[in-house]
This record gives sequence, C-alpha cells and structure tokens, in this order.
Amino acid sequence: MRSELSSAPLDRQSPKERYLNDIMTFAASGYALTDLHLLRGVQDLGVDGLLADCPVIRVSAGQSVLDFGSNGGRLYVVLRGALGVAADPLAEMSDAPVTKVLPGECVGELSVLDEEANPTAIYALQESDLLVIAADRLWRLIDVSNGVARNLLRLLSFRIRAANVQLRRRQKVGEFYRQLSMIDGLTGLQNRSWLNDQLPALIEQAASADNPLTIVMIDLDHFKQFNDLHGHLAGDDALRVAAKVLTDALRPRDFAVRYGGEELMVILPNTHRKGGVIVAHRLCVRTQQAVVFADMHRPLPHLTASFGVASLIPGQTAENLIAAADAALYRAKEAGRNCVAP
Ligand code: GH3
Ligand code: MG
Ligand code: MG
Repeated sequence: MRSELSSAPLDRQSPKERYLNDIMTFAASGYALTDLHLLRGVQDLGVDGLLADCPVIRVSAGQSVLDFGSNGGRLYVVLRGALGVAADPLAEMSDAPVTKVLPGECVGELSVLDEEANPTAIYALQESDLLVIAADRLWRLIDVSNGVARNLLRLLSFRIRAANVQLRRRQKVGEFYRQLSMIDGLTGLQNRSWLNDQLPALIEQAASADNPLTIVMIDLDHFKQFNDLHGHLAGDDALRVAAKVLTDALRPRDFAVRYGGEELMVILPNTHRKGGVIVAHRLCVRTQQAVVFADMHRPLPHLTASFGVASLIPGQTAENLIAAADAALYRAKEAGRNCVAP
C-alpha cells in the first residue's frame, strides 16, 4: 500500500491520491481491538496479527466509501465517526431512510460472504476512520476464530430481522395506499377502480356458491340544475349527503360505490331482486328526506334520485350486470325520476 503513496503537492493530489496518503495500518492507528463488535468475546490467537496490517482509511463527510473502487468484497469497521447506509443506491441524494453505522460496528459483510458487489450506497455521515478488511482476510479470520464466525452470524441474524421488519412495514404502507387509492375522495365511498377490481370477484363468489347478488344503480335527478342554482360547492355537499344516505342504510356486508359524477351504486351480496327493490325504495325515500344546507342554516330543496335494480343471472359478467342496472335506471328516469325500476 505504501508504495502507492503520491509525492505530488497536497493541493494537486487527486481524491484517490489523498485517500492513499491518509492510509495507515490498524496496528499503527492506535485504535483498540476490544472496541470492535466483530471481536466481542474473541480470545483466539492469531486474530490480532491478521488485523494488524489491515488498512485504516479516513473518509470525509459525504464521501462514498466505494469511491475508490471495491474489487472484491470488503468489510468496513467504523473506528471513529459514522457511516450512512442507504438501502437504495440512488437514495443517497434523497430523503430515504438511512441506517447509521457507529463506532465499533461494521458494514459490507454480505458482499464478502456472497461475493456480490455491495448494492447499497455507503458513505460517511461525518469525517470517519474505517478499518478495511478485505474478503480473503475476513475468510482467514473466520477460519482461525470461532468467535469471529459467531459474531458474524449474530450480525447476519440481526440484519435479517431488521430487513423483515422493514419489509413488513413497507407491505403495510403499500396496503394502506392501495386501500386509499380505492376510495373516492369526495364521498368516502369505494371508487370505480375498486368496482373494476372487486365486482368480478363478487360475481364469481356468488356464482360458485349459487348465491344471489343484486346491484342498484343510482343517479341524482336534475343535478346539473342543482349545481346551476346553488353552486358547485353545495352540489358537492349534496353528493356527500347522498353518499351518507347509502352508507347509513346498508348492512355491513353491502358496498356503496361512487360510479362516477353523480352516479352511485350499491352492491348487495346474498340478495335477490325482490330484496334489492325493497332496499332501493328505502334509499329513494331516505334521499328525499335528507337535508342539504346551503350554509350552516339555510336548507336547500330536497334531493331526489332514480334507482335501477339488476340481479345476477347465470353466466353474466360484471359489464352485463352493470348494463342491466343502467337500463333499469334509464326506465326509472323515463318514468318520471324519484322512483325505482326493477
Ligand atoms: P338527470 O336527472 O337526467 O340525471 O339530469 P342531471 O342534470 O342530473 O344529469 P346530467 O348528466 O345532465 O348532469 C349531471 C351533473 O352532475 C352535471 C355535473 O356538473 C354534476 N356533477 C358530476 N360530478 C359532480 C361533482 O363531483 N360535484 C358536483 N357539484 N357536481 C357534479
Ligand atoms: Mg348522470
Ligand atoms: Mg343525474
């Protein structure tokens, strides 16, 4: 290593030359073996000698430890300062969480054990001194010392546990956002993506168990006029009120969906057409009775809606079933609105 030292003046040295000039051996560095987690409880002879000539490098804050190439795996032991390890190599520049490696701890053991390049970005969070143990040297340490092998195994199991925790957390966050993406922001009802995803599955369940399934398509009456007369914000409130009429009236296993615009839908598993018509009549009456306020005090004219009911017939797809409910809704509109068409 010493033979690679540069004699160029300090201000004209490349980062690599400066790095090489900063190198000293572990024996000369003044740091104590007992401070290294890798050597906890290790009494085997020969370990000190194997570490004595391992280099100690000084990296400045923000500098990547991989800047100078990483042919073959290396274990980096922090003697002073702190390293940051970003799970994503590109995350160094972002706000992604970073694992801190503190004095005595090490990083890079996986690249030694599986001989794969280190996929993570490892960089100094502040000026740091690092003991660098090359792959072949680490393998010799493992050969001569059960203690080193045991400490490495302990470190690996810790890493696996931490990775599992992170994975579970990500799955939970992913599921949370997946659920959120299926909900309509204005009404809190399930949205069209949810419907596209879930209705085919509900139909399949019903068909395979030979259970009935009924849907009701709902469209607010003269809603354009409502908006024109009372404003779009009052229109939004009216949509929320209509959505609440549905959620308040349904059983826990029914679903309420915002199909789009001022069109809503309810899905009634285990319900025959007759039951669906009864539910639709109940919703029709409750919609008429619901009150929308223009401001906190002034009630607006009552809302009405039209309802089209359709029940699953064998072999029907989600599209066919929705089309049947749509046709029934059209008949309800034709019949004068504020009514139910079976
Ligand atoms: P019909 O009785 O035949 O259904 O008449 P309509 O006026 O309800 O039907 P049309 O399709 O002509 O108009 C639907 C209106 O619903 C127009 C549109 O601005 C309104 N609308 C759709 N989505 C929203 C929304 O999110 N907020 C508000 N305020 N209005 C909406
Ligand atoms: Mg409409
Ligand atoms: Mg309408």
